[in-house]
Amino acid sequence: MAVRTVVYPGSFDPITNGHLDVIHRAAPLFAQVVVAVAENEGKHPLFTLAERRKMVGEAVATLPNVTVDSFTCLLVDYVAQRGAQAIIRGLRAVSDFEFEFQLALINRKLNEEIETIFLMPKESYTFLSSRVVKEICRLGGDVSAFVPPHVQAALKRKFRRAARKQKRGFGLATQAFEI
Ligand code: ADP
Repeated sequence: MAVRTVVYPGSFDPITNGHLDVIHRAAPLFAQVVVAVAENEGKHPLFTLAERRKMVGEAVATLPNVTVDSFTCLLVDYVAQRGAQAIIRGLRAVSDFEFEFQLALINRKLNEEIETIFLMPKESYTFLSSRVVKEICRLGGDVSAFVPPHVQAALKRKFRRAARKQKRGFGLATQAFEI
């Protein structure tokens, strides 16, 4: 059967221009691209599942054959439930290869009918990751070249709130010390 529907899974915590580059490459190749946000509580994401999903939705709103969903079960089970034939993953550099290779082979072992397809982003995004973007923003740096504007705004709000919380915490700690 020809590959018609593909699932692009990830934490998207948050979605970056690198993820978007992969989505824009996949969209013209397949009838349907489902961007599937993994709950991944074990990774302690900065954004809630609903926040991550909303940010992805806004970022892909202009692409008619791209939809957003989330999943909490085993990836291959989710892909089969959606009636998709393949998984899309992004390969940035050799450093991604070992992990992605292992994941692809495990998923094949779990369900032989589902293929993994790798797409490479534009070279200028090969250094980009959600983790790096969060770290730059946390330290007050400019991430406008790395994420869409609505994601940058969400990051700023999140870190401002976290800083306020921390300040209040310190205030309480100081008061306790003075007593
Ligand atoms: P995960 O938690 O599954 O690693 P991510 O959201 O970090 O989720 O990434 C999802 C997929 O997107 C992975 O295949 C990852 O390699 C790929 N990816 C992440 N950042 C980039 C980027 N800058 N360019 C291309 N692919 C990327």
